[in-house]
Amino acid sequence: MEVTPWPVLPALPDPATDAVVTSGLAAELAYALGGPFHILLPDAFTANLTAMRSVLADTGVNGFVYFAKKANKAAVFVERAAAGGAGVDVASAAELREALGHGVRGEHLMVTGPAKDHVLLRLAVTHGATVAVDSPDELDRVVALATTGRAGPARVLLRVLPESRPHSRFGLDDLELAIALKRCAEAGDAIRMDGFSFHLSGYALQPRADLAARLIGLCRTARSQGLAAGRISLGGGLPVSYTDADSWNTFLGTQNPGHYHARKTFGTGDFYPYHSPLAGAHALAALLATRPEGADRGLADLARDAGVELLVEPGRALLDRAGATVFRVQGVKDRDGYRIVTVDGTSLSLSEQWFGSEYLPDPLLVPTVPGPVPGVYPASVGAATCLESDMLTWRKIAFPHPPRPGDLLLYPNTAGYQMDSNESPFHDLPLPPKVVVDRTDRPRPRWRLDRHAA
Ligand SMILES: *Cc1c(COP(=O)(O)O)cnc(C)c1O
Repeated sequence: MEVTPWPVLPALPDPATDAVVTSGLAAELAYALGGPFHILLPDAFTANLTAMRSVLADTGVNGFVYFAKKANKAAVFVERAAAGGAGVDVASAAELREALGHGVRGEHLMVTGPAKDHVLLRLAVTHGATVAVDSPDELDRVVALATTGRAGPARVLLRVLPESRPHSRFGLDDLELAIALKRCAEAGDAIRMDGFSFHLSGYALQPRADLAARLIGLCRTARSQGLAAGRISLGGGLPVSYTDADSWNTFLGTQNPGHYHARKTFGTGDFYPYHSPLAGAHALAALLATRPEGADRGLADLARDAGVELLVEPGRALLDRAGATVFRVQGVKDRDGYRIVTVDGTSLSLSEQWFGSEYLPDPLLVPTVPGPVPGVYPASVGAATCLESDMLTWRKIAFPHPPRPGDLLLYPNTAGYQMDSNESPFHDLPLPPKVVVDRTDRPRPRWRLDRHAA
């Protein structure tokens, strides 16, 4: 067998994404839309949500899922969250309005983020949303709004500063927590203190379980002060696995500057962990089974015995396989031993490129003219802009046939944070439209454009 020097990182198989290509729909949409576009696969979102809700139900713990909206701006995912019995986690007045406008009940909204502005807090209190309070003065503002408004008690969680992240800019330290609990008790009927929350970066389970156990303890303390304190939020951070273990480990072990355009260097720690043995709902199940340090039971059992509801706020994990991004090859030029493919869009539609990192799952080259000669054709992918650094893929991808102008390039699994976090009409290029595709099990999938409430 011929061994290529080029590491490959194939996306995990996804029949729905394949169907968009094999049915001819991708080529037709590229022609119709005349530029790059995003495909949204909302059935994957619904399946991910259903799996997470089943995990919660199976452990016998009370639980609720909030979709962290910042991971994708499309309306369809909010609609699917509402239809699937989930809430939405928002951090701006605009996100809150979007969620309400697409069918999420106010009481199913979770409002996170630091030092929330007044309009956001007022909307939250008016609509009975839960506010994850990040500072004592924010709590004072919520109390003031609830005291003067007519909407009933404001629902709050207190966001806790993790001991493992003492330098985080989010959350209340011990002193602030004590002050906040006192103020909640003093606020009487104006406030319903529902419990505590955290959000940890990184993907390790043990620190999450340990912190969750601490929050359950805090609920006990708060209850002894007469507060409701029956819910804790574990935040987001459920991992997504994009590629298989073998490809990932081989890549990490062999990647070197020769594999990248302009001998660009990345440390292995610069990358998202594109393979994760436990991902999505499986990671949630593992977290619920994890025994916090010093505890004799797993997290779910601890919560159930304490009468505490567990809330989760996944963004990326709900969007696993829920979309892809399609560009057209606009030009191809030869370099020493590889090619540079220029596509008709920018790396603003692939956000990872803007964090000193690289979106690693291999893009799929879809020839639109028959007859390409099979082989190994390494190529990096650049944007149709005048910035030297605007590369969609620095890595030389081992394409199985030569890229040619007119071919499509599909980046798989981009719905979680990649497609639209950073987009802007740079160079006056229009933003790529979002095409919602479902019924991918039929010979001809069905499509429509994503629609936002006016
Ligand atoms: C970003 C964020 C999330 C979602 O994180 P994921 O890694 O996408 O699951 C959840 N909660 C809070 C408070 C966040 O800031």
